[in-house]
Amino acid sequence: MPFSPKQTRELLDQLEHLPNRKLGQNFLVDGNIVRKSLELAEVRPGDRVIEIGPGLGTLSKALIKAGAEVWAVERDATLAEHLKSSLCPQTEAFHLIEGDCLEYPFAGLPEEAAAEPFKIVANLPYAVSTPWMEAVLTGPLPQRMALMLQKEAGDRYIAESDNKSFGAISIFLQSAYKVHARHIVSASCFYPAPKVSSMLLCLERKESPIRFPSETRIQIRSFFTQRRKQLAALCRKENDPRLSAWFQALTDKGVLPTVRPEQVTTEDWAKLLKF
Ligand code: SAM
Repeated sequence: MPFSPKQTRELLDQLEHLPNRKLGQNFLVDGNIVRKSLELAEVRPGDRVIEIGPGLGTLSKALIKAGAEVWAVERDATLAEHLKSSLCPQTEAFHLIEGDCLEYPFAGLPEEAAAEPFKIVANLPYAVSTPWMEAVLTGPLPQRMALMLQKEAGDRYIAESDNKSFGAISIFLQSAYKVHARHIVSASCFYPAPKVSSMLLCLERKESPIRFPSETRIQIRSFFTQRRKQLAALCRKENDPRLSAWFQALTDKGVLPTVRPEQVTTEDWAKLLKF
């Protein structure tokens, strides 16, 4: 069971720690959400699981109890110190790095372990969830992810074309993952309660995941910074033979030259990978 809001406040007082808003410190205080996260990720004994921002260790303890081996990265020095003195001595199944998840997106999971199936279960620091996700999509791909996110970020990840939330991250993520489940989570499930809405999202790796190389990602991202422009103008602008080939390939598939980037589907973007 996670700590109640009162127990969380008392523990934070004991550590003389005020929740840091910049680091998104909204701790889980709802047992159902902890259970649901593990259930969605299908955590089984022996699983290798990455956790981002373990905080006071609520999800970590549940993962370890379920028999998983956990690799976690925590940026806050006080919380990392608390975990090192409370959880680490109790178990060899918890490996902690004190650092930034953008520097350690896989929380130090050893290369040989990442070559085997692994999962990610995390109540993410909302401010860095998208750059972290982009980093994950360039590395070894986890089998399954159960992630707590700001609702707006989750909406962007799962948006389809022709939607204002559809963007580069929707394309990169949905080329590799399908959405298994999505739940809106009430602010009362956290202490302190966040001012933004939250979403628990479960993603399952596709059988043949598609990964975009760095150059293509940069180009697609740049298109989406000019969302109002039409495809023809975007592809013509830089006088680049590769962009001309993209334009030809898309229009040959029936995509109109007048559409905006958000109107081109993930499947059509993926067709450009051969250029
Ligand atoms: N997992 C805990 C829970 O569910 O109660 C805490 C989740 S809280 C939403 C996010 C956690 O991420 C905090 O512990 C925060 O200190 C940590 N954090 C924030 N930014 C981070 C970063 N860039 N790298 C690693 N951890 C970070």
